[in-house]
Amino acid sequence: MNIHPGEAGNTSYVSAEDVNRIINALNFPADRIFLTDTTVLYPGRRMSAPDYIRLAAEHGFGIPATPPFIVADGLHGENETLIEMPDGYDSPVAHLASIICSADAMIVISHFKGHLLTGFGGAIKHLGMGCASRAGKLYQHSSVKPQVKSDSCTACGICSDNCPSNAITIETFAIINTEPCTGCGECLGRCPERAIMVSWNQEISTFIRRMVEYASVVAKTANPVLYVNFITAVVPDCDCMHDTYPPFVDDIGILASTDPVALDKASLDLVTSAPSAANSPIAEKADVGDDKFKVFRPDIDDELQLSFAESFGMGSMKYELIRIL
Ligand code: SF4
Ligand code: SF4
Repeated sequence: MNIHPGEAGNTSYVSAEDVNRIINALNFPADRIFLTDTTVLYPGRRMSAPDYIRLAAEHGFGIPATPPFIVADGLHGENETLIEMPDGYDSPVAHLASIICSADAMIVISHFKGHLLTGFGGAIKHLGMGCASRAGKLYQHSSVKPQVKSDSCTACGICSDNCPSNAITIETFAIINTEPCTGCGECLGRCPERAIMVSWNQEISTFIRRMVEYASVVAKTANPVLYVNFITAVVPDCDCMHDTYPPFVDDIGILASTDPVALDKASLDLVTSAPSAANSPIAEKADVGDDKFKVFRPDIDDELQLSFAESFGMGSMKYELIRIL
């Protein structure tokens, strides 16, 4: 089972109790199941397997509370399997986490929420980014290089303090060194002056396309049999963040499908058709029928990852919602 056990300090990830409920409902043989995720690009507790496994345990994942949690791409993200990409894709090969490629089947459990670079994150993002080795993640991010608008920068240093790659120095304004910058996007969300920008139309669409290319290769390689989206604790940022902002819609429910595109499209539509949560930061800015992720990232086209995924044959944006409970 592919999960995200949450960054240190984050509280919005799908809980171990909820993951266990899915396992129990599916009634799979317990000795065949494991939980997994990959290491990340930036320094922290998810950068190497031993620390990541300890962090996951602190969040309730791993023996004896759940099936074992193992890291899919090795000690430092180096265990990868290279898979040839179809003609016309940006890269000739995909760098995927080895364990993802070795599993007999995969269930992808995703938390549906906002994301700095893709607008929202659900099953497609989980496949594309969460199943890539470190080299694969780096390749996907490599087109995203932020720039500082010097006339808006107050040199407060918040971006530098939060850059996981020490890529920002503060002089009369912040300066980003593109060499160590991994394109993680953390500084974009941290700057209180909105002084850090990327060329959204070009770099972000390249990043999203590459991420979805990876997702489509994982979908064909790793035999994912079921996708589950938790539309709960819908917050502006992903579970990789060290802190968690309040949800901006009330909990909606849990969706499951064998089609990740239909699942993410239905999840997005449900958030769009929900009222904004009372007292949320967007309560006065968006309501029933509004794409609420756009309030946080107005320049990101939420449908772009869906249309790429559909064009790569991952599934269809058409769906039928069947309510079970
Ligand atoms: S995107 Fe920003 S926070 Fe991330 S590595 Fe580059 S400069 Fe640092
Ligand atoms: S957080 Fe924004 S305002 Fe503060 S130093 Fe960085 S770019 Fe400048």
